[in-house]
This record gives sequence, C-alpha cells and structure tokens, in this order.
Amino acid sequence: MSKDYYKILGVSEDATNEQIKQAFHNLAFKYHPDRPSGDEKKFKEINEAFQTLSNPDKKQQYDNMRKFGSGGFDNNNFNWGNVNFGNASDFSSFSGFDSIFDSFFNSSFGQRQNARQSNPNEDIEIQVEVSLKESFTGNKKEIKYQHTVLCDKCDGKGYPTDAKLNTCKTCNGKGFVERKRNIPFFGTVSEKAVCQECNGEGKIPDKKCNNCRGKGHIQETKKETINIPSGIRNGDVLELKGYGNNKSSKYRAGNLYIQVLVKKDKSFWREGDDLYFNLHINFAEAALGIKKEIQSIDEKNLVVDIPKGIENNTVLKIKNKGFKKLNQNYFGDLMLVVKIDTPQKLSKTSEELFKKLKEELG
Ligand SMILES: [Zn+2]
Ligand SMILES: [Zn+2]
Repeated sequence: MSKDYYKILGVSEDATNEQIKQAFHNLAFKYHPDRPSGDEKKFKEINEAFQTLSNPDKKQQYDNMRKFGSGGFDNNNFNWGNVNFGNASDFSSFSGFDSIFDSFFNSSFGQRQNARQSNPNEDIEIQVEVSLKESFTGNKKEIKYQHTVLCDKCDGKGYPTDAKLNTCKTCNGKGFVERKRNIPFFGTVSEKAVCQECNGEGKIPDKKCNNCRGKGHIQETKKETINIPSGIRNGDVLELKGYGNNKSSKYRAGNLYIQVLVKKDKSFWREGDDLYFNLHINFAEAALGIKKEIQSIDEKNLVVDIPKGIENNTVLKIKNKGFKKLNQNYFGDLMLVVKIDTPQKLSKTSEELFKKLKEELG
C-alpha cells in the first residue's frame, strides 16, 4: 500500500476518532464533486482513508501493515475489494454527513431565510401587577403599552395618494437583489435578499408620507382596559390577539401577551386553589370554643364554628370559599390556620383569673 491515509486526511497517527471524523467532514465538504471546489478523485481518496481509519479493525490492520510492511498484513481478513469507496454523487450515504449538513444550513441560510419570510408584525409582551384580592375576585385593569400601527394617513403605504411611483433602480423593479456569499468548505452560493432601497416593493415613490416619514407605520401608546379573570394565578399569561405590532398589512397583526404578576398579601396567601389565612384566637376561645365572624379577602363576612379544645395550628376548612378555578365553575376552599395567642400583657383582673385557673388545672 503506497497511500498514506493519515496524510490524506491531514491527521497524525495518534489522532482520535473524533479528530479523524472532523478532518474527513471538513475535507469532504471541500472536495465534494457537487461543490465548485470539488475534486472527484480527491474525494474518493478522502473517503477511502476515512473508511479505513474510522473502523477500529481496519485501522489496526492498516497500522500493522505500515509498521511491519506488507508481511504483517493479513490479506484474508482485509479484503480491499470490499471496502466501500462510496459513490461520490451519493452525498447522504456517509454517516454523520446529513446532520452536519443540516446544522450548517440551519445556522446560516436557514435562519436568514426564515427571518425574511416571517411576519414582521411582532408580538408584544408586557407584565401587569395585581393584588391577591384582584386575582381572587377578578377585576378590570387599565394597561398602557407601546406598539407599532399602520399609518392611517397613508394606509400603511408610506406615500400619499398623489405620489408618482418610479421603478427602483437598485433591483430594476424586482424587489430583491442577488448576493454572492462565500461559505468556508462549501463554496460560493448566491442568495436573494429583499431590496433595501424599495423594501421589496420594486417601486420608489417620489414623495413620502409626512405622518410616518415613509415607513408606513408609527409608534403609538395604547391604553386598554383588560379583564383580569377571577382565579388567575401568578405568572399566568393573557393573550389579546391582534393587539401587538402591525407594521405590514400583508400579515396578521402581532398579539399582545400580558403576564399577570400577583403581589403578596399581608394576611392571605394561596396554595393551589385554596385561600389561606391565620385566624388568631385567645386561650379562652380555644378552650371554650366559639362562633366567630371573619372577613375573607373579598371583604365578605363568614361565620366559623371553632370547636372547644382546638389546638394551635389546626386548619379549619370552609368549603368552596377559595379561589375560582380559572375558566371553570369549581372553587377551592378557604383554609383557616388557627393561631392561639399567648397574652403578652395582662390586666390585674386577667392576672387574677389566670392564677385561679392555674390552681384549678393543678
Ligand atoms: Zn428595489
Ligand atoms: Zn404614512
């Protein structure tokens, strides 16, 4: 064997499998016959070298042969005739080639192409803060945001009705220009790009709209009253279709996404769809039991029955008085965490009574 596969791939004899693969991919790109820089003979050679060096058994035999001369070469096991030299036009038959090809395209062409074809009317995201009470009851809320809308003076055209339209000289009225681009290992490709001069219209008006200075759209501050639905959770996003940017009438307007941030409350908190709060009672109420009137977060009065002998941190449940499950007719519960307060200051009378109580309880 006169061919030096290591030299062909440009790698050292102790190159790792990864390095061999990488070298192969780079060279195969460069010399593939379909490329302007292609060379079929070289391409076959590269492939042959790769087939051998990437296969551990074949590589071992090839290395032995190099070391010990052809005498150490086992011809029975190493049948060169069976080595797949590959059909140069069958580009996709190489392992790993497709994926590399794809990622290559995605990272350069793909994105540009998509960007060019995608809707210029962007969605807008804003945040709105609501209180826990508002999230419980639901509420109307005024929001203010900036968005881009079509200029109403020129209907989004960018020029007045009496403007004269001349053919764009940059693109000769085609609306796009062709560019040549050089891509490493790939060669020169030509791609179409929207003509910047006429924005792809192919024509240039002799006058611009005063209102939008020819852009066809303007920035506007918009006020809107939105409905915060009862039961909304922290982080939930409301969607208003068509309330986003509208720069081009050729596409649907973008959407407005409003993320609702629910502020913490001093007394109440939410767990799942249940509404919690700490219900403070004193020793006597805990020992004797009591019917207590409480006010929930919506300021509605409720009566709770606290049984006698209740322990600290007992949770009392009032069914269906919690949060409304969003867009459903189902309610969580109101959970009262009983907190038995130890008096910090005692009046003379109270102190006497506690002393008596202490004796009684022994
Ligand atoms: Zn043009
Ligand atoms: Zn205008």
